[in-house]
Formats: sequence, C-alpha cells, structure tokens
Amino acid sequence: TIEFVRAAQLQGDEEPAAPPAPTQAQQQECIQAVRRSLPVFPFREELLAAIASHQVLIIEGETGSGKTTQIPQYLFEEGYTKKGLKIACTQPRRVAAMSVAARVAREMGVKLGNEVGYSIRFEDCTSERTVLHYMTDGMLLREFLSEPDLASYSVVMVDEAHERTLHTDILFGLIKDVARFRPELKVLVASATLDTARFSTFFDDAPVFRIPGRRFPVDIFYTKAPEADYLEACVVSVLQIHVTQPPGDVLVFLTGQEEIEAACEMLQDRCRRLGSKIRELLVLPIYANLPSDMQARIFQPTPPGARKVSELQKPLPHPVVLRGLGWGGASGAGSGEDARMQAVVVATNIAETSLTIEGIIYVLDPGFCKQKSYNPRTGMESLTVTPCSKASANQRAGRAGRVAAGKCFRLYTAWAYQHELEETTVPEIQRTSLGNVVLLLKSLGIHDLMHFDFLDPPPYETLLLALEQLYALGALNHLGELTTSGRKMAELPVDPMLSKMILASEKYSCSEEILTVAAMLSVNNSIFYRPKDKVVHADNARVNFFLPGGDHLVLLNVYTQWAESGYSSQWCYENFVQFRSMRRARDVREQLEGLLERVEVGLSSCQGDYIRVRKAVTAGYFYHTARLTRSGYRTVKQQQTVFIHPNSSLFEEQPRWLLYHELVLTTKEFMRQVLEIESSWLLEVAPHYYKAKELEDPHAKKMPKKTGKTREELG
Ligand code: ADP
Ligand code: MG
Repeated sequence: TIEFVRAAQLQGDEEPAAPPAPTQAQQQECIQAVRRSLPVFPFREELLAAIASHQVLIIEGETGSGKTTQIPQYLFEEGYTKKGLKIACTQPRRVAAMSVAARVAREMGVKLGNEVGYSIRFEDCTSERTVLHYMTDGMLLREFLSEPDLASYSVVMVDEAHERTLHTDILFGLIKDVARFRPELKVLVASATLDTARFSTFFDDAPVFRIPGRRFPVDIFYTKAPEADYLEACVVSVLQIHVTQPPGDVLVFLTGQEEIEAACEMLQDRCRRLGSKIRELLVLPIYANLPSDMQARIFQPTPPGARKVSELQKPLPHPVVLRGLGWGGASGAGSGEDARMQAVVVATNIAETSLTIEGIIYVLDPGFCKQKSYNPRTGMESLTVTPCSKASANQRAGRAGRVAAGKCFRLYTAWAYQHELEETTVPEIQRTSLGNVVLLLKSLGIHDLMHFDFLDPPPYETLLLALEQLYALGALNHLGELTTSGRKMAELPVDPMLSKMILASEKYSCSEEILTVAAMLSVNNSIFYRPKDKVVHADNARVNFFLPGGDHLVLLNVYTQWAESGYSSQWCYENFVQFRSMRRARDVREQLEGLLERVEVGLSSCQGDYIRVRKAVTAGYFYHTARLTRSGYRTVKQQQTVFIHPNSSLFEEQPRWLLYHELVLTTKEFMRQVLEIESSWLLEVAPHYYKAKELEDPHAKKMPKKTGKTREELG
C-alpha cells in the first residue's frame, strides 16, 4: 500500500504561515559576506605570502579580527592540507576550541567532526577526514607523546599566545625544536595586540604580521570611590546603564560560575521588582561549564522586541529572559515593534579575547579574575580572586568598541588602575605546580629540564618540588629517570596524583570504584545544584548521599545510584544532581576505562569494602594530608592551617586524619573533597615519604575521640 499525506498538512495549513526559511545557498552567501567583512580578509593574500616565505610567523591582531576562524580556512583553501596533512590550531580554553570549531564547520558548510573537528580532554570530535583540527593547547602537548615530530601536521597555529598558559608556554619550546628538524612545518603564533615582540625574539626573530584592527573609541569611566561589594555594584551598574544609556548590549566580566549565577539571579530579581518601570533585559551567562547549546545563544543576535520572548524562555533556567513592560516614562523608547531588546552577557574572562560577542557597546569591569597561585615552599596551589592586570583591563575595555563607539565602566578608581594593577598577568608557568608537565617532558625524553627552552622559566623551587613529588609518587627513580610506573602515569590524561590513584586501584582490587571516583573528581564541584527556592530540599538530598568515610565515597555513591537508575535524567532532577555533569562523568569514566589495559590495570570491584577504595585514593594523595590538632587542621608535612569546606560531608565530623583533593583559598584555605584516613595507611602507601614518628599523635590521649563517637551515633 501507499501512504498518502493530506495536501493541507504538507502546506502546513494548521500552522500560521512561517516566513520562508533562507535556502542553503542564501545562508552560505550570507556567511561568506560576513567572512569578507572581517579585518583579516583584505590581508588574505599578503598573509598567505608571508606564511609561504617564512617558517615561523607571529600574527598580531585585535580580538575579533578573524585570526582563529579565518586563517586556518585560508590555509585550507591554499592547499596546506593536501597530501593528507592537517592544520592544528590550539586554544587555551575548552569552550573556545569547541565553539570556534563549530563556527568554522558552519562557515565551511560541513558537519562538525568531519573536515573540521576539535579535541579537548575527554572529548574527541574528529574523524579520519578532519583537516582543520582545533584543540586545547594541552591536547597538542599530549600529541607529542604519540607523534613527537607532529608529522601529520603541515601547520601548527598556537593561538591566543598572549594568554601564556602553562601548556602554551611548553608548546613554544617543543615546537621551536620540531621546527628545526622539520623545515616544511609552518608555525604560526597568533596573539592579541600584546607582547608580540617577545614571541618574535623567542622564535629567532621571526617576523610579526600585524592585522590592523578596527576599533571604535571607547570612553573609560572609573568609580569615584572603591566599591566594597563588587557583585552588588555590578548589578546596580547594569541596571543603571540599562535605564540611563542609549540601547546596546552590556558585557560584564566576573570571575566564575558561582558569581555569574549569583549576578544573573540578582539581576532577574531586581528587574522583576522594577517591573514595568524598565525595558526588557535579556540575561545571558557564559562560563566554561555552561552546556554548549546555551553558549551558542550568546552568538545569536539580540532579538528585536518582545515577539521572541516566549521562544527564548523555553530553555530555563538559562538564559533568563526578564520581562518589563517597556518604558514607564513618556519617552516611549522600547515600546516600538522593532525596538531591540537589550542583552547583558555575564562572562568569565573567556570573553576577554577568546570569544567575540557581537553588538557589545558597554563593558562593565569589576577588575578581578580568578587566578591560580602556587607556593613552591609549601606545595600548595590555590585559586583566588585577584585584581586583573592593566593589559587585561584594556582588552576588556576594547570589547566595547567593536561595532560602534562604546563605553567601559570600571568598578574601581583611576588611582587603583594606576597604582594597584600589575602591567601584565604573570605567566601561568610561574604560578602553578609543574608535576604534570614535568612528567610529560620526561616521557618525551627531555631530561634536562633546567635547560629547557622556556620563554619565561618557572621558579627553580617549583621545578625541584615537581621532581621531588614525582619521585615520591614513584614516577621517577632517584636519578630522575622515568620509571615503568611513571610511563603508565603519563599515559593517563589526568594529574599525576590521580593517575597514581588509578594505578594503585590494581593493588587494592577496586578499579571499578576508583574509576568512578576519578571521573567524578574531574567534573568536580558541579555535581549538586541548589536552587534558591529549594535550598532545604536540595541540602537534604545531598546529605542523603553521605557515607561514612568522606566525600570521595559520596561521589561514588551518587554515581552508583545514578547508574542503577539507568543513568536517568529524572533521577538527577529528583535528587538535585546536575544531569549534564553526570553525563560528563560517565564519558570521562568510559574513556579512563578504555585506557586501563594500556596501564595494565584490570577491572575489579571492592564489593563494598570501601577501606580499599580509601587506601587507593591515599596512595595517590598522600601529599595532601591534614591532621586535626588542638588549633584545628594542619597539613601534615608543612603545618599549614587549613579548613574543611562547609559543603563537605565531613564538615561536622572533623576526623583526626584526612586527605583532601584540592585546596581553595576563598575567605580561608579550604580543603575541598576530603576523605577520612588512618595515619597507618600513610606508612603503608608511602613508606619512603612518611616516618612513623611524624605520624604519632601527641594529643591522642588528651583529645576526646569525637570522630569515632559521631560515627557510632550515626550507626
Ligand atoms: P580573533 O581570533 O581574531 O579574535 P575570530 O576568528 O574568533 O577572531 O572571530 C571572527 C568573527 O567570527 C567575529 O566576528 C566573531 O564574532 C565571529 N565568531 C567567532 N566565533 C563564533 C561563533 N561560535 N559563533 C558565531 N560567530 C562567531
Ligand atoms: Mg581568536
């Protein structure tokens, strides 16, 4: 039989007639027109000629000029990917790698993952056909492990070089070396207008190609007096701009997800209270953990008028659409059919140079960013909110002048700008631990790290401490050479301590559980959610997952129950667990599981004997231990004062000995993800590192054994 469809249905009679969708050809023409309008376009031929005649070229251009999206395409069009070779383009940020690849795939009219792909840690969206390969700088670094001469690439573009991330800096040294014995390899170092002379000098005076920017003037405003609460000040200022300034989108720079969510919520609240007194305001958050479909919305033009509001409201909770009812006053602005809705994009410094958002007229800059710092004497790494550099502040301001003359409101004083901000951000290599990178370089056969070709060398103590720690973890022998275990640790794309924990799960026969713990730790801090209106329910749900022993077991418990639910999103919803974090954990877990064979760890389960899981974690994290003294927690070796994070399941229990996954400095030095251990385990897993004497407890008798009691009471 033949099935028929009613003609009326085919014509869509039941639905109101929609405007005809643009044909594919029309869409392509539009995209090509945009491509031709970018500042880099007039320099296409000149740029290609420069690339052809120099092996290394430094490319300097204002953010948004088309470096990242266009140059790899030009090279593709020019035939650099013939003979089965690929073009690599690195990005310091995962989000940028994904979003840029998606954009380029669209411009080329191909499916993402085919000719244009990306890879970021734990996520590979490439195929045999991929020739334009966007990736994080860390991923290219790992490529050296499997292909030390990068033989499958004809061009390597190290993008966002000015960010000076640890991985980018290491890449410089490695690529400079590869370029020497692969004269046909092209190396491009792309950077915003900062510091390009340094790159040129480093690469034996490579020429700098400048793409003149098109920047409209940006008027800069400072506050008269310092603001005590910059989050509050931000919210007030956004509304002030919204109400007093001519229409135009606002970009706000905050330091991280929590802050961004708080600010968005506050904005929403205030707008609702102001109701009809103000125009509509579209609030768009953007940060690394935001799912990519939500991120994509940032690039959509701000919709005209209110017609699209209902459509925009669908994917709640983000982005949030705030409805006012047009101007209350006599001006009538905003009440017209095609008056543009105003958007405020609340972003981390990803919007500083990695992503360009069109239509921004106002920038609001509180002047802070989240920065890693590292103390090589104590070995403590912390993430703190610190004032940004002048260079950053100027990049931020520049975002306001892309489409028209703009304004930048700095939430600090002109005096503070002059006297309190550093000129530039200290390169990451000088403020982070180096265990990871040292292990990688050692695996690449680079032994003499003191003489590695660094653009800026790391502090000597940091390098030394990394070697010491790798030695303690058994990755290096006493001569500083890579051991078998070290080689395996380098195979796993995670930190050395986490690698060690995974390797140790073989000995304690609990790799199933340890894989889960490792995966959950990798999506750290975004497992539970806590909506403002359901705080009590959310907290109860979280407490229900608590298991004696600590947070690692809580994570294990959450994952196990979720798996038992058939990986259900409904289950997540009911338990205040973030589904997308869990989905990511599952991905990570699968990938790690796939690598177990390579590192000779068999699959095994502890069958509920969690002591084994805890010992395996201790085998990796014996460096991160603290004990309870009469004056609170102190790290075991360095005697630093630290605190259990209030979100921890052990916050009330206060066990005598514990290990922590990481230390975060906010108001205090908080240990995040803590696990109760016994001091004797430290001697068992790291006899070369701990002496029995230092693990004795001088106060053992004087202190009531609070831990034990509480646990008994809990049953
Ligand atoms: P640069 O690398 O020089 O900063 P880009 O190549 O990233 O410049 O950006 C060129 C243009 O492409 C900009 O106008 C930017 O807005 C646009 N663009 C970049 N990424 C995306 C995206 N994911 N979606 C839509 N437009 C994008
Ligand atoms: Mg770029």
